[in-house]
Amino acid sequence: MKELAIALDGPGSAGKGTIARGVARTLGYQYVDTGAMYRAVALRALRAGISWDAHAELAELAASLVFEFPFDGDVLRVIVDGEDLTSAIRSDEIGMGASMVSKVPAVRQALLGLQRDLGARGGIVMDGRDIGTVVLPDAALKVYVDADLEVRSLRRYEELLRRGQPASLASVRTALAARDRQDMERSVAPLKAAADAITLDTTEMTVRQAIEAVVKLARARRGA
Ligand code: C5P
Repeated sequence: MKELAIALDGPGSAGKGTIARGVARTLGYQYVDTGAMYRAVALRALRAGISWDAHAELAELAASLVFEFPFDGDVLRVIVDGEDLTSAIRSDEIGMGASMVSKVPAVRQALLGLQRDLGARGGIVMDGRDIGTVVLPDAALKVYVDADLEVRSLRRYEELLRRGQPASLASVRTALAARDRQDMERSVAPLKAAADAITLDTTEMTVRQAIEAVVKLARARRGA
């Protein structure tokens, strides 16, 4: 049986990561979070005093980073140059930084080879903004995960509360909308659904329903 590459794209807090993890667990696949790579570049740039729009320095930094994505039980850890950045990259500040550094073509180029190598193995679920359009254009299954801004804002707000990083719902909504706009309007690899992607609107779905929907599509494609 052929093991698939599954591409999940969509705006922030649409549920991509949660769905990708659940689908990977159900199918025995590996989950690859490409947003974490951009977040790690943003965090390392911040620490190094490199501005999020200093293209040449960002490109050099991105090319120099060594990534590892080991599983710790169910949790995918993000290790960069031997340092565990899993929690440190999860703030809204770093999310916006990731959206800034991901506009830089050379930064995208530095990460593309790594992402394609992971995808070529099959048996993976990869999520991001350009997986179906640029990273894995031949993925066997492409899903564009979407949800209303209001619902996505609420999910993000609750996630921040759980993490002990409280913010107002209004500020979360404003930040999310600004980041989506920036991701959709950039000239290189903008966020959009691939022509052959299936759109999954999770506005009124539970996590379990969304995972089941993608698993069903994957099983149909896999022929099992
Ligand atoms: O998915 P996550 O919110 O962690 O992604 C952070 C940012 O990284 C996104 O807003 C986007 O700008 C960028 N990104 C990207 N391409 C990807 C994944 C993430 O440009 N494949």
